[in-house]
Amino acid sequence: MDIREYINEENVIKDEIYNNFESSLTCSICTEIIIEPTMCMNCQNVYCKKCIDDWSKKSAKCPNRCQNTSYNKSVSISEMLSKLKFICKKCDNILNYDDMKKHKNNCKKKKTPEENLTKNSIKDSPDEIQKINSKFNSFIIL
Ligand SMILES: [Zn+2]
Ligand SMILES: [Zn+2]
Ligand SMILES: [Zn+2]
Repeated sequence: MDIREYINEENVIKDEIYNNFESSLTCSICTEIIIEPTMCMNCQNVYCKKCIDDWSKKSAKCPNRCQNTSYNKSVSISEMLSKLKFICKKCDNILNYDDMKKHKNNCKKKKTPEENLTKNSIKDSPDEIQKINSKFNSFIIL
């Protein structure tokens, strides 16, 4: 399961913190909310760790064209990200950034399989059926 499914622009609660710092909390490579903030020590731009790892394989320069640069974890952006809140679209819980990282592993366990399979809850819409199908599949895997 990819954490990006939980931490993204669609799920973030757009509160004052997010609105004020959106540009510093957004990775310019994937244009999404930064996951594992990693800073170019030269231009101080911050990217997702995964994005900059992939980037470094292809280019010796940072996305901002700094040469011979190195990257380091950004503590200040981490702190700011930890103030954000996200809604989990799967269980409707609201969690902060750090809890969401753990939540991706235990989210689906919050609803019992019986609950998911109750026929009464099935609405005759493709969307609803798809949701139920995916829950059902995860139940089988468990
Ligand atoms: Zn990114
Ligand atoms: Zn740079
Ligand atoms: Zn959830």
